[in-house]
Amino acid sequence: MNIKNIRNFCIIAHIDHGKSTLADRFLETTGTVEKRKMKAQMLDQMDIERERGITIKLQPVRMQWKGVELNLIDTPGHVDFNYEVSRSLAAVEGAILLVDATQGIQAQTMANLYLALDQNLTIIAAVNKIDLPNAQVEKTKHEIMNVLGCKEDEIYLISGKTGQGVDALLDTVVARVPEPKKESDKPLRALIFDSEFDDYKGVIAYIRIFEGKVRSGDKLHFISTKKDSDSIEVGYFNPYLKKDMELQSGEIGYIATGLKSVKECKVGDTVAGRADIEQLPGYKEVKPMVFAGIFSKNGDEYQKLREALDKLKLNDASLVYDPENSKALGFGFRCGFLGLLHLDIVQERLKREYNLELVITVPSVAYQILLKDTSEIIIRSPQELPGPDRREKVFEPYMKLDIFSPKEYLGAIMQLTSEKRGVYVNTEYFDEHIAVIHYEMPLSSLLVDYYDKLKSASSGYASLNYEFLEYRQCDIVKLDILVAEDPVEALSMIVYKDEAFHVGKKIVETLKEKIPRHQFVVKIQAAVGGKIIASERISALRKDVTAKLYGGDWTRRAKLLEKQKKGKKKMMQSGRVDIPTDAFMEVLKR
Ligand code: GDP
Ligand code: MG
Repeated sequence: MNIKNIRNFCIIAHIDHGKSTLADRFLETTGTVEKRKMKAQMLDQMDIERERGITIKLQPVRMQWKGVELNLIDTPGHVDFNYEVSRSLAAVEGAILLVDATQGIQAQTMANLYLALDQNLTIIAAVNKIDLPNAQVEKTKHEIMNVLGCKEDEIYLISGKTGQGVDALLDTVVARVPEPKKESDKPLRALIFDSEFDDYKGVIAYIRIFEGKVRSGDKLHFISTKKDSDSIEVGYFNPYLKKDMELQSGEIGYIATGLKSVKECKVGDTVAGRADIEQLPGYKEVKPMVFAGIFSKNGDEYQKLREALDKLKLNDASLVYDPENSKALGFGFRCGFLGLLHLDIVQERLKREYNLELVITVPSVAYQILLKDTSEIIIRSPQELPGPDRREKVFEPYMKLDIFSPKEYLGAIMQLTSEKRGVYVNTEYFDEHIAVIHYEMPLSSLLVDYYDKLKSASSGYASLNYEFLEYRQCDIVKLDILVAEDPVEALSMIVYKDEAFHVGKKIVETLKEKIPRHQFVVKIQAAVGGKIIASERISALRKDVTAKLYGGDWTRRAKLLEKQKKGKKKMMQSGRVDIPTDAFMEVLKR
């Protein structure tokens, strides 16, 4: 293919604004997938993506349109995967900015637009869902003109559902997105924007070639991991892997690398024909920020859980896990995630694809601790928190938040966010209706139901974008929960010192409701550093052994009750209280 006839582009949009549906229409309009083989959201390959309608993994596709080769990358729409978005943007020359006419511009639209402008991409704006009766086409157009500074006639009006305007949009991609630069005489230099693991061919690197070309059998060098391998196969996406002779500069495609782990073939790294080639700009190590313990509900499934995590890890370089042993939950793993959605996806896949029943402990963030002896450690679980006598200072991750909302909800949102320890920065007015409120907030506040509360405070209208800002000092303690005087490790959590009482009280109250009565009194306590700060008791089931004795012999009755009391004491000492899983879940939800 002549490089003049190649266009690489992607679609950026807020969740649900219709990116996957539009991509489907492209596949159909260009005849890439026959109509009878189309299923909704072709490019979202994981079951979970299709069911929840969210895009997690990018699935690129090559299409032919009027003699031009179009390479489309479908980007993930969730902030947990921002780095992946930025890498796929780095692989293309243009982006369609897609805005739902019933919603207008939202937080992720802007976040991704900024990333695209950073990469100097050509932006083509389109208003989607114009077939809907409640579409506000004019209003949406004006928002777009405000942000992009473009002219009204440069905005396309389309419906990904009916296909209206889709042909014209493809023509515009050809006309306006620049052709890639031709650099075919140099050695191979390509950006890895995604990877997946294949049992037969090893790691498949999804690449954009900037310089040179690649064929099967070529030597490959991975610049940041310093790994070498041989190319086993090269090809493109149709949208499934389609083998080809060669990929050349400007093209998007795949290389089967034969590598055994996606760790060796990192997203954002450069794969090159020589080991001394300079890395393409923008590479970053992504580090997990959210940690939680994962245990199998049936303690004997540890091995199965390990195998499942090993398998998931093959395709997910950002998932980390270490074995962990808990008294209450048995053997399991401490796992690290990019964010809550990432945790959710992993948990869902373990359940669904591997049939595992799981207990997940309270998610916590990674704290940086400066010890009295001036050394520094990072802790990932409440159990690792050194005592107050050993720690000098604790630092927690803060995020930068952009909240988009219609003006009328500003008050409610600001109240909620400051309750969650958000530090107000400023408010920008985007147009006469929409405001963008900027906050700095601890990641730990985001983990606990902030998003749900934001949605309800704004009748569902607010949207949120966040990214890591910095570590800041905080005052925290480890809150322990004791049931029948036994600490329940899985319920320990790190909380702000000034919230410990409130949180502890709420948890013991929840447990009191959820734990069934036993033969003995069950004490439920919350403690900090061995000091009880809240407690409740569940009274004993009273098996009335005297019921059979009709009145009569009082001494006998008293003796029996006495005996029963002793029995109770015994049970309590040896007694282990069975905490039902829904009690766990209720507390973990907080
Ligand atoms: P994504 O999250 O951006 O990938 O959005 P989807 O493509 O999954 O679309 C979200 C929802 O909007 C789905 O229920 C689609 O059927 C619907 N949708 C997408 N495009 C259109 C459109 O042009 N018109 C209408 N009426 N619905 C659409
Ligand atoms: Mg989608």
